[in-house]
Amino acid sequence: MHIPPDVLSKLRKSGHTELNPICPYCHTHTKLVNGTIIYPHRYDLRHKQFYLCEDCNAYVGCHGGTTRPLGVPANAELRKARLDTHNKFDRLWKEENYIPRSSTANTKGSRLSRSSAYILLAAHMNLNTKDTHIGQFNIKQCQQTLAFVKKYYDQT
Ligand SMILES: [Zn+2]
Repeated sequence: MHIPPDVLSKLRKSGHTELNPICPYCHTHTKLVNGTIIYPHRYDLRHKQFYLCEDCNAYVGCHGGTTRPLGVPANAELRKARLDTHNKFDRLWKEENYIPRSSTANTKGSRLSRSSAYILLAAHMNLNTKDTHIGQFNIKQCQQTLAFVKKYYDQT
């Protein structure tokens, strides 16, 4: 059944939860909440919308200005794994002094560009580059990303 987005948004905002994403841990419907619930200390995020599982605290954000979820709700363990994975992956293209051993260029500019890093990761993960968002990965994909980072450092 196709439900027009504005109707869906109205339903959700009036507290109906039956069409909201289901918590993958508890198998119950999440509740639409705003940023003040998820990040009470982040005034800048107060208008952002999230789907929250009140039983286990798993949540997922929404695409900007909509009630369309960005992915599947994540619990604290998965959120931590994504953060950790993101930090380690970002070193590939952010680290100032990192020079691949295979590189002949002796300048810090020889590190990977952000887009190259994502293209290599997408290929490793067998994903489209547009679907390669660590913030939406599951635990297994985080582990695969960490394996990719390690392999890259070991081989270059
Ligand atoms: Zn839950």
